[in-house]
Amino acid sequence: MHKNFKNIDKVVFGRGSFSEMENILAEKRNENNRFFLFVVDNYFKGKDLEKRIPVKPEDIVRFIDVDPHEPTTEQIDNLRDEVLAAKGLPAGVVGIGGGSIMDIAKAVSLMFTNEGSSTLYQGLNLLKKPGIYHLGVPTISGTGAEVSMTAVLTGPVKKLGLKCDWTVFNQVILDSELTASVPVDKWLYAGMDTYIHCIESENGILNNAYSHAYAEQALKLCREIYLGEHAGQTPDNDDKLMVASMMGGLSLTYSEVGVCHALSYGLSKILGDKHCYANCLAFQHLEDYYEEGVKELKKMLATHKVQLPQGLAKNWTDEQIAAMAEVAYNLPHMWNHAIGTDWKEKVSVDTIKELYKRM
Ligand code: NAD
Ligand code: ZN
Repeated sequence: MHKNFKNIDKVVFGRGSFSEMENILAEKRNENNRFFLFVVDNYFKGKDLEKRIPVKPEDIVRFIDVDPHEPTTEQIDNLRDEVLAAKGLPAGVVGIGGGSIMDIAKAVSLMFTNEGSSTLYQGLNLLKKPGIYHLGVPTISGTGAEVSMTAVLTGPVKKLGLKCDWTVFNQVILDSELTASVPVDKWLYAGMDTYIHCIESENGILNNAYSHAYAEQALKLCREIYLGEHAGQTPDNDDKLMVASMMGGLSLTYSEVGVCHALSYGLSKILGDKHCYANCLAFQHLEDYYEEGVKELKKMLATHKVQLPQGLAKNWTDEQIAAMAEVAYNLPHMWNHAIGTDWKEKVSVDTIKELYKRM
């Protein structure tokens, strides 16, 4: 009944700490076939950061465009197969980017040592062997993917994480200088993921002193960053959001997410909307469940002049709405937390369809 969470092994925090990577990797370079696989958000191709990545001639660097879709099982399997065919087993994997890249690095590190397709391992504790060493460097703050024990993948059947102790990063480097270039809309959507993690973690039956302490602090930081006297994308606030992201992730690890994340999974799986944006689309209509949170999130968006589209559901077919409701309904742990153990008496697939129709 009680969660036994494997934390990140090592964490570096601070502006400029990206430069520590070379030394950190040096200790690991003799493992396996003595090369590293770097998976890097395509945004950084040709940017200054590219030159700062401590790549050796034997290493493989893959720039990945994360915008067309969230990470897929097929993408992970192909990456693993290509690298194994070219050079064998790497010493480790380094991910530099947002939540998508964090999940790609975590997932591929596991799939290097577990045979077959990653679809076989979507779920809790299905991996058979530990993965290889993996290091994460988040470049946009919010999802908490840098700290979580899951690597979320979209497969042909389900959007579900590879979730086990071995998923958690061996090392993260938290250098908030890297997030300075995030555009304002993405800064808000990703930050709202942290905010929603905390609101959902707090509002449900699994909340406890441990998850509450993290959520309380992360919410305080979000309020300073988005609504405070010095609100906005400043170096100070970038530091704070990087910490808030991690704390939001830790809060929900010891508690659970709720109604918004259930709906968001439906939007991502059926319509391909990205996680943080999908959360915002859903959350703005959930005043029945999170009244104060919805008001505050709207205030944060308005303060930074980011507008969410309205009336989207008019263009969705009944089949799409039914399919999204089905995805959302099949996340019982989220409904159980948010509504209570008798949630099935209060929430049906039809209730969920109505929530989608508000969007
Ligand atoms: P992302 O990684 O998809 O990146 C969002 C956008 O920001 C992209 O366009 C990217 O190119 C850009 N970007 C990243 N860093 C930048 C920078 N420094 N400057 C300019 N642009 C930059 O987005 P995300 O919102 O961080 O992550 C979403 C993904 O995370 C989804 O796939 C979701 O499933 C996953 N997720 C995982 C967990 C987990 O616990 N594993 C939790 C929540 C979400
Ligand atoms: Zn989330």
